Amino acid sequence: MQKGLPTDGKATSARIEAWLKSADGKVVGRPDRVETTEGRTTVVDLKTSSIEPDDVPAAYQQQLQLYSWLWHEVWGEWPHGAVIELLDGTRLPLTVIPAECETLAGEALVALDSFNELAESGADFTTLATPGIEQCRYCLFKGSCPAFLSAAEPEWGPYRSTIGGRLLEDSSNDDGDRCLTIAAERGTASNDGGVVRVRGILDGPLLPSDSFVVADRVIPEVALHDYRADPDSLIWIWDKGMEARLV
Ligand code: SF4
Repeated sequence: MQKGLPTDGKATSARIEAWLKSADGKVVGRPDRVETTEGRTTVVDLKTSSIEPDDVPAAYQQQLQLYSWLWHEVWGEWPHGAVIELLDGTRLPLTVIPAECETLAGEALVALDSFNELAESGADFTTLATPGIEQCRYCLFKGSCPAFLSAAEPEWGPYRSTIGGRLLEDSSNDDGDRCLTIAAERGTASNDGGVVRVRGILDGPLLPSDSFVVADRVIPEVALHDYRADPDSLIWIWDKGMEARLV
């Protein structure tokens, strides 16, 4: 994908797309927005990170290439362009080159088939996983993924953190504000066994101390080592052979 196709932002229509699925059902994706301006279709992906126009990460370009390929799969026509839109409204246009998109999709399908073959032959998922800051960012299974928890670094979760460790205490104060106190060992919090507190947990049965818990998608507070759970957060309990959503 090359940078270059200009987009002027004068969209005559813009819509949030539903999931796009390839004809064989193996690849799905949902672009943040698809705009149509004077008959020209542009796939838009919103990014919260700062990106230099001359240094768009390859992963972001590939994401838009796959969206473009999926768009073609579903609608039978290629988008005229693709755009990364940053938080401040800056738009980084990318040119959609169908041959490149098809090559990438072909590679993705080969990788998918290869993974499925290994999984069906009984391979250990932990060794198959290739955790990374980009591929794991929005994964809902981080809290149950040993590979992620072992490899994660603090910079992998600047806005929402994943903290795995032994539960020291599950307590509530007089205002009913429940707090999990965790000796952090893995994940995107400090991995030095430092004690962190996660508040905002819904009321429920107290968790046994010394359980290995993972608080995923929790929000760092101003005070160091303090985090808050919200409805998007997930709390996983490993030792009890179960997972539980407590927020
Ligand atoms: S968290 Fe684990 S399962 Fe999810 S994308 Fe990362 S490596 Fe894969």
